[in-house]
Amino acid sequence: MISIIKKEQLDTRRKNDQDTERERRIVQSIIKQIRQEGDAALFRLTKELDKADLVTLKVSEEEIDEAMGKVEPAFLEALHEAARRISAYHEKQKQNSWFSPEPDGTILGQLIRPLERVGVYVPGGKAAYPSSVLMNVLPAKVAGVPERVMVTPPLPDGTVYAPTLAAARIAGVTSIYKVGGAQAVAALAYGTESIPPVDKIVGPGNVYVALAKQAVYGQVDIDSIAGPSEIVVIADDSANPVYVAADLLSQAEHDPMASAVLITPSPDLAEKVAKEVELQCNRLERREIAAESIRRHGAICVVDDLAEAFAAANQLAPEHLELAIEEPWQWLGKVKHAGAVFLGNFSPEPIGDYFAGPNNVLPTNGTARFFSPLGVDQFVKKTSLISYSREALCRDGKKVMTLARAEGLTAHAASIRVRLDHAKEGEQKG
Ligand code: NAD
Repeated sequence: MISIIKKEQLDTRRKNDQDTERERRIVQSIIKQIRQEGDAALFRLTKELDKADLVTLKVSEEEIDEAMGKVEPAFLEALHEAARRISAYHEKQKQNSWFSPEPDGTILGQLIRPLERVGVYVPGGKAAYPSSVLMNVLPAKVAGVPERVMVTPPLPDGTVYAPTLAAARIAGVTSIYKVGGAQAVAALAYGTESIPPVDKIVGPGNVYVALAKQAVYGQVDIDSIAGPSEIVVIADDSANPVYVAADLLSQAEHDPMASAVLITPSPDLAEKVAKEVELQCNRLERREIAAESIRRHGAICVVDDLAEAFAAANQLAPEHLELAIEEPWQWLGKVKHAGAVFLGNFSPEPIGDYFAGPNNVLPTNGTARFFSPLGVDQFVKKTSLISYSREALCRDGKKVMTLARAEGLTAHAASIRVRLDHAKEGEQKG
């Protein structure tokens, strides 16, 4: 069912062609309702869309305690260990403010400051996503963001998935609200009586969430808009076809729009992987989704050599790139565009989804050409520092005045001029 194709047939066009005009209009109306009515609209929309009739939006500490008691101890232990690894990895991303003194007394530098309030959207419509909680909250915590607010839709009985709440406690979320969809995003952007407005909204969600994030961008910052998941595997004869097929299917099971592509110079491996994909897909719980994804967006592309395989992968700029080749480290220099690279036969993509430490929020749809994975950088901002000495201003002042006058900004020039005149007077007096 997975087609074997030649390099010329590989479709490297971006898939961003969904018509979302109808959903866009719905989202605009929801944002308007939240801005005009605040909490009242949140309660009404939650009843209408999530079938939950709530009396309060905030999740209490008792509810989180209860959730901690409901989940398996083995799950909690795995969450704790994943959180430890994710935090340790992100600690390494931290940058310090810097100050650069110069011999003339000038000091230039840059302050690094965390954002004050971040909102994390955690999907809850059809499943619990505790890994999303860890991956979106922990970088903010490591960056030093003091308020880390989470929103997630309630179930019809007014509760929230226990694994999501357990992950929120472990990740250090500071407050949680039972609200989802575009209304949750609007509440985070503009604030309501119950929900404080934040400075940035991150986290995945369905089309309503994604469109609402786009709509409020500018009022707040947002992370990138996640498209369907993607994997490209570059494999040679040394690869195990059973592993390669399993990894392709691990992405395909996400969504019928997900794409899984193998690029290989080995026609023999291509045949073996094609057979394995068919075999393993039939055994999956989510075989219908995986099969549709493989049929619509899956491919095995046979190329002349590994150099051609890397060139094709760079054109795709995939979210996940696996190198199932004999010398992956020797070829790493050829990778130009990818969200995350997985090297060797024992680095399957799911180890990165949950546990290794790097973030699983990665650029999709070819945006690895210019976007980076979610990380500490996205939760801090930078402020430039300039402290000029009298000596340095006297040296550079005339040049600055020349540049200011060339732009017709004579008040700019004057702000330098008054200081140069004073400095000259001081010299004459001295
Ligand atoms: P969700 O929380 O994103 O959406 C549920 C909300 O959508 C509801 O609360 C409701 O408010 C709103 N909604 C539903 N139907 C609506 C309608 N007709 N009109 C207006 N609003 C409506 O949960 P979901 O729907 O299960 O989607 C989760 C998405 O997140 C999936 O596509 C999943 O693949 C994706 N996801 C991505 C990642 C990632 O890392 N990229 C991780 C986890 C989940």
